Amino acid sequence: MLSSTDANHPALVRIPTWVQEKLSPKAVDYIKRVHHWVETECIPAEPIVKAQLAKFGRWKTPPLIHELRAKAKKEGLFNLFLPKSFGSLSPGLTNLEYSCCAEIMGRCYWAAQTMNCHAPETGNIELLAKYCNEEQKQKWLMPLLNGETSSAYSMTEPDRASSDATQIACRITRDPADPDTLIINGRKLYGNAMWNDDLSVYILMACSDPSNPNPWKRHTTVLVPKNTPGFTMLRNLTIMGYDHAPEGHGEYLYTNARIPAANIILGEGRAFEIAQGRLGPGRIHHCMRLIGQTERAYELALIRATDPSKKPRGRLIGDFDSNIERIAAMRLQLDSLRLVVLNAAYTMDVHGNKAGRYAIAQSKILVPAAAARIIDECMQMFGGQGLTQHTPLPEMWTYARFVRIADGPDAAHRHQVGRDQLKTAGPVRERHEGYLRRYRELCEKWEVECEMMVGGAL
Ligand SMILES: Cc1cc2nc3c(=O)[nH]c(=O)nc-3n(C[C@H](O)[C@H](O)[C@H](O)COP(=O)(O)OP(=O)(O)OC[C@H]3O[C@@H](n4cnc5c(N)ncnc54)[C@H](O)[C@@H]3O)c2cc1C
Repeated sequence: MLSSTDANHPALVRIPTWVQEKLSPKAVDYIKRVHHWVETECIPAEPIVKAQLAKFGRWKTPPLIHELRAKAKKEGLFNLFLPKSFGSLSPGLTNLEYSCCAEIMGRCYWAAQTMNCHAPETGNIELLAKYCNEEQKQKWLMPLLNGETSSAYSMTEPDRASSDATQIACRITRDPADPDTLIINGRKLYGNAMWNDDLSVYILMACSDPSNPNPWKRHTTVLVPKNTPGFTMLRNLTIMGYDHAPEGHGEYLYTNARIPAANIILGEGRAFEIAQGRLGPGRIHHCMRLIGQTERAYELALIRATDPSKKPRGRLIGDFDSNIERIAAMRLQLDSLRLVVLNAAYTMDVHGNKAGRYAIAQSKILVPAAAARIIDECMQMFGGQGLTQHTPLPEMWTYARFVRIADGPDAAHRHQVGRDQLKTAGPVRERHEGYLRRYRELCEKWEVECEMMVGGAL
């Protein structure tokens, strides 16, 4: 049970009581320290990062971020997402506890990066730790954990419906003259930009056995070093006009790119096992960071609503009933969204990632779409400026919009939830037929004429 001082601490005050009660003293300490870090080191430095990108080049990680990463490491605020399976490297936080940290990190777009807790790094680190052999771990995982380099995940393709990964067509073949060498040919979209000076390796999913009768065994995951000859970045993809430098989103061409077969992760044909294990916690992290980002947009709306220098018809924006309603609706939605994601995190803690599938999908479906709607309302309260660089709102909205698609579109999650729900129709029908049988008995007992019901159920 938290002390009333802790329960009302700005880092913890929005955390629901049922979650506060489950936080260990260590987690409470981390949450407060992450809050202090983001509020004092990150948010006030946002304009400096923009200025450094302009000064040193858009694909160089700004010196301020390098400095903060070194400092966070020294202060024990690095790799906070690592689950307990990482032993002494892990801070030992549960999914529920880490989710509270992730929300705070989300208040500044790049704050998670200063703590090595950003996407796609977190998912990639978990993947490499879970599926690589010892040699691969030393070579590829340790530099990521130490924050010396960064990685990208490359699955999506321009010519395939990539939300159905069985369609991935980029080809991996063995060199007939040297079976220890793999040759890669194909096109890929997204995966952080090769131009970024810190990036060193791509985790690539490609097709190695197209004629395998089992479509789940046709694909292989490999490690592709960024400097592999034949592997080129054609351009950076902008997202709603933003280049998202210095990480970016590349468009790639593989033309007879050659890598050692020793770079295969887990084994040939096992890419789906790997992809399945990767995304659960990452989706929750994205959703919590998005809630943090949306809380900040909401705070800006509160400031705007009470700004004495902006009074249409002589009244504060927040004096109009429609805006009072709008503020209330935003507050209620934000608190409800947080409950949904924390429930998913807790379900994963108690029952595991697989059992948490529905709760994870629920977060992924509800949070990005609702966050985009809330940020849109915040923009509206700012008038024209809300759509310009005078506020961070357009970038925040873009973040919410892209999380609806990244890591799988929400429509695909709805499709899965709907299909799973339809499978429950059998037992539901049986229960309702039971009502009907009992109804007939009662009709007989009370001598009431039994009426036909639609579909044979009550
Ligand atoms: C900012 C950003 C970053 C990204 N980062 C990465 C990355 O690092 N690595 C990477 O590999 N990819 C990345 N992606 C790609 C992303 O994962 C894919 O765009 C996504 O999986 C959808 O695949 P697709 O674009 O091929 O769309 P498609 O598969 O063609 O789907 C198009 C649309 O069809 C509908 N649809 C699809 N499936 C279903 C279904 N089952 N039921 C109902 N409707 C459906 C949806 O509306 C969907 O949006 C990123 C995307 C964005 C926007």
